[in-house]
Amino acid sequence: MADIIVIGGGLAGCATAYYLARDGVSVTLLERHDLNTLASGSNAGSLHAQIPHDPFKRYGDDWGVRYSPTSALLARSIEMWRGLGEELGEDLEVKLRGGLLVARTEEDMRAIERKAVLERKQGLDIRLFDRSDIAREAPYVSESMIGGAFCPDEGKANPFAVTPAFARAAERLGARILRKVQVLAIESEPGGYHVITDQGSHHAKRVINAAGADAGRIAAMVGVELSEIQAIPIQVSVTERVAPMIPHLLYCASDKLTLKQNGAGSLLIGGGWEARIGPRGNPVADLENLGLNMAVAVSVVPSVAELKILRVWAAIVNGTDSWKPILGELPGRPGFFINFFPWTGFTGGPITALILAKLAQGKPVPFDLDISPFSPA
Ligand SMILES: Cc1cc2nc3c(=O)[nH]c(=O)nc-3n(C[C@H](O)[C@H](O)[C@H](O)COP(=O)(O)OP(=O)(O)OC[C@H]3O[C@@H](n4cnc5c(N)ncnc54)[C@H](O)[C@@H]3O)c2cc1C
Repeated sequence: MADIIVIGGGLAGCATAYYLARDGVSVTLLERHDLNTLASGSNAGSLHAQIPHDPFKRYGDDWGVRYSPTSALLARSIEMWRGLGEELGEDLEVKLRGGLLVARTEEDMRAIERKAVLERKQGLDIRLFDRSDIAREAPYVSESMIGGAFCPDEGKANPFAVTPAFARAAERLGARILRKVQVLAIESEPGGYHVITDQGSHHAKRVINAAGADAGRIAAMVGVELSEIQAIPIQVSVTERVAPMIPHLLYCASDKLTLKQNGAGSLLIGGGWEARIGPRGNPVADLENLGLNMAVAVSVVPSVAELKILRVWAAIVNGTDSWKPILGELPGRPGFFINFFPWTGFTGGPITALILAKLAQGKPVPFDLDISPFSPA
């Protein structure tokens, strides 16, 4: 019997297994496919700390107030990202050269200012930019952008590298990582849980649900409804390679956009534009949204118009309307935990994994962070 079973071999699961193994806990991870095949290996690799502007605009300032502790959590996670490559012994291509949110209208500038107040309360370094700051710091941005906000701690990392690095490090420390094992049912039993899979049974004192967009299905196996959890197909595009031109993670407050240049020189362009579900049930790119996304990109960075798009991919993101993580023991299910981070779970992966690894051992959270806003209760 393992002390702890982790369900899900994305970043949340593999990083949690690593931190448990690092503490000497006997841990078994169950993944129904191969590792890193869903959101953790298909995302855009942005490391975010700012309150996301699109939902702030859509849901209003009260939403921003409720969300804002998540920014502090993300900022703490980015601190972990700084030393992660060294800790795991692999190059994760972490580059933190700042995130720049630009605005086209005075109304959006006022929203950015209100958002900055909330972000600073959470300890973030947010600098308001006017037109001349943008011209100086980001000359690649269109002159139609009148100002914005700069967060120096944001950046990017390589999604293909991180989760496998956590998994290898966990295995070196003795974690058992089982691929192609699908969890079908979970029963509570004296002293723990009986996890039934398509490859046989496992028993453990504790279970951590790190199943991403399927976390609601796993929770339902122990009779807990997490109806807030959504699975939404979104898409990202990648251009041909060009000489270094964009050091920042760029966003636009007036339209949905994230844009950055990866280590190979390609621009990654997204911003949460929806994809579609294809005839075989898998996510496929939506060409209309691709056109809209590119129009926004060109309006913010005019030189994008000269570049060829090489590939568009679609994948399922784990979402909720609150955008807040759900972290901790499920009410009424002692020993059954959840590690769920919607929308920006790549950025948040390291810190929530460390938090869950400690909580599942009955240890305190090793930071001066209040995690009560993220309680499943
Ligand atoms: C296109 C796209 C772009 C994104 N861009 C960014 C970004 O730039 N920055 C950012 O911070 N975040 C981004 N995200 C979000 C981020 O990728 C996710 O929030 C994060 O990867 C979630 O990690 P996870 O480990 O919880 O889930 P996943 O990576 O989805 O892993 C869950 C795993 O659980 C397994 N599983 C599910 N059910 C079972 C079962 N019954 N038995 C066994 N295994 C099971 C699945 O097979 C899967 O491997 C993006 C997401 C997408 C899709």
